[in-house]
Amino acid sequence: MRILSVASEVYPLVKTGGLADVAGALPAALAALGEDVRILVPGYPAVLDATEGLGGWLPLGDPLGAGECRLGLGRLPGTTLRVWVIECPTLYGRPGNPYSDAAGADWPDNHLRFALLARVAALVCEAGALLGWPPDLLHAHDWQAGLAPAYLALRAGRRPATVFTIHNIQFPGIFPAAALPALGLPRESYSINGVEYHGNVSFLKAGLYYADHVNTVSPTYALELLTPEGGSGFHGALAAKGDRFSGILNGIDTALWNPARDAAIAVPFSAAALQGKAIDKAALQREAGLAPQAEAPLFGVISRLTGQKGMDLLVGALPELLAGGGQLVLLGTGERPIEATLLAAAQAHPRHVHVRIGYDEAFAHRIQAGSDALLVPSRHEPCGLTQLYAMRYGTLPVARRTGGLADSVVDAAVPGAATGFLFDRGTVPELAAAIRRASAAYHDPAGWGRLRERAMQQDFSWDASARRYLELFRSLA
Ligand code: ADP
Repeated sequence: MRILSVASEVYPLVKTGGLADVAGALPAALAALGEDVRILVPGYPAVLDATEGLGGWLPLGDPLGAGECRLGLGRLPGTTLRVWVIECPTLYGRPGNPYSDAAGADWPDNHLRFALLARVAALVCEAGALLGWPPDLLHAHDWQAGLAPAYLALRAGRRPATVFTIHNIQFPGIFPAAALPALGLPRESYSINGVEYHGNVSFLKAGLYYADHVNTVSPTYALELLTPEGGSGFHGALAAKGDRFSGILNGIDTALWNPARDAAIAVPFSAAALQGKAIDKAALQREAGLAPQAEAPLFGVISRLTGQKGMDLLVGALPELLAGGGQLVLLGTGERPIEATLLAAAQAHPRHVHVRIGYDEAFAHRIQAGSDALLVPSRHEPCGLTQLYAMRYGTLPVARRTGGLADSVVDAAVPGAATGFLFDRGTVPELAAAIRRASAAYHDPAGWGRLRERAMQQDFSWDASARRYLELFRSLA
């Protein structure tokens, strides 16, 4: 099967979150199963720099009247996976974050930037025979690729089967209805049975309405999206898909996230040889300027600093964490007030709290390796990847029972299956209680060791998830 995967970020070319991890690893896993997969991604400067062997440029003209563009073909670094890159200097020739300027404001022409991604995806599908590669299936990720199924459904001509994956319903890609003509969508698409969403255009709505099948990244999140509270106003449209809407838990790249072969950490370790983890903890304490206490439970956080991630709850529960003799190492960027509060906490407790505002892939690995537990107090969590990495690194998740967290972490109270600590409501007292439970459990080394061993034995590799995607793709193509 020829599968075209379309996403606005793909690791290791460009990444702001879990979407990039999935958009890089799932195509690789499908290719490993023998499928013919190609990726399509916007040519931001970082992507043009990092794509290997990029060439064979094909002029595409100016499909949206927003700038000339051309299509190049290269490889994902260090792999044989083929990547199509759209070069369009007027829309993509900006350094930094793919969605926003240096001050954090969304680019005002994001509707055009991501309409172009979808438009080129549709072009590749329609003219695939000319390119020598006619896709059998288009896999569009999140709102940035949401118009691709719409363009294909709204035009006559060759059309592959389409699957739209929702990685986060909180990002609906909403633009004023006045943008419609610039997007090249016909008037009749502006309807409840189309791209319309409460008087605006939603790219996410476009994807979920026009795709042959919609899925999201965990079974529990799929159920949550069907409720008025969890569906962000899309629950009706999703319910209307019936059995054409489902949930498939993400996997992780087990080569990239492997404590036994991780170049970013001080000493490698494995479930069978755990001595290295204690050394990694000491190294992390040293790097973070924390008191070198081997017996202090060390909590890690690697997260966007937003309300969705429950980072305000973390601020509220910090006194409890410190009262239990714990330490915190946090890496993240996000909402300025949360950043400021966390930095103030670090300043007040420099030997117990370390906060690094920024994006640092290698430090994320060292936090996973050196921490005892990882805090993931998300209000909503479609799948969540950090808790999966954590378990592989013998770092026990303390997480809210929601979405993919509920599907991947088993609470310490469940005999014979426990891998972490879950709490139900997104409140400070419940998070604080979970931290208390984890701290108490940490001081029982035998019990903690059993939890850790079981967490490290879990198999979250992409193989099983990729097979589920493949089954779905085959049923459609
Ligand atoms: P989301 O996609 O909602 O941000 P996920 O848990 O699915 O959350 O994925 C987050 C990914 O981004 C993980 O790979 C995590 O390690 C990474 N990440 C998040 N923040 C940072 C940061 N500040 N520095 C390095 N990596 C980060």
